[in-house]
Amino acid sequence: MMFSNYHTHTTYCDGADTPEELVLEAIRLGCPELGFSGHSHLTEDTGSMSEAGTLAYCREVNRLKEKYRDRITLRLGIEQDIFSEIDRSLFDYVIGAVHYVEKDGALFAVDDGKETLLRAVNTAFGGDFYACIEAYYELVGSLYERTGCDVIAHFDLITKYNEGNVLFDTEHPRYLAAADRALEHLIACPVLLEVNTGAMCRGYRTVPYPAPRFLRRWLDAGKELIFSSDCHDRRFLLHGFEALKDIPHRETLC
Ligand SMILES: [Zn+2]
Ligand SMILES: [Zn+2]
Repeated sequence: MMFSNYHTHTTYCDGADTPEELVLEAIRLGCPELGFSGHSHLTEDTGSMSEAGTLAYCREVNRLKEKYRDRITLRLGIEQDIFSEIDRSLFDYVIGAVHYVEKDGALFAVDDGKETLLRAVNTAFGGDFYACIEAYYELVGSLYERTGCDVIAHFDLITKYNEGNVLFDTEHPRYLAAADRALEHLIACPVLLEVNTGAMCRGYRTVPYPAPRFLRRWLDAGKELIFSSDCHDRRFLLHGFEALKDIPHRETLC
């Protein structure tokens, strides 16, 4: 089976490789397509693209589209954080993502280290982990309305540091109610959900996002999935895809 990846970061944001290095790796792996998804500009986030960098990124991917047109189909996308604005007309597709929770106008990252997450829970939510989780899933559920995205990124990213339920219980009624509400809302939206293996190659998780129960519900509702490696390093461009291949999924995005 041939795989394509549409969730790919480059040196224009927090990835390790230039777009061209990634194109050459995708060609080497036999990918029919490759999609780029730089982090949208967000001042609080040093891993995101600058405004000038976003335009340079677009120019570079468009240049590569032409240069390699006989060898691979390239797509110019963006990973739009829910707290940032983009010019949608520049991009072939948008991956909508929640990386922060908001409290009284301040943003707190949920994927920037366990300590950062704990600090958010303690300073912004009075130590109530489930209040933080409810704020997170409230945002995830509104991703389509707020961004018009085509794909929902890493649905349960808030579990990044929670393997083995070390921080909170993913069977807790408040956890499930918040996540289910977001998922049911997204089921009614014209979006794909990604099966994201990004945290696996970095050693944070042994299974992809989202958890199997959410994947099953999504498929039972007749909705489509797409595989994504959330690639920050070309050695992991198709990481984990082979093991997932029996899960029904869309092979191309656009
Ligand atoms: Zn992300
Ligand atoms: Zn990403």
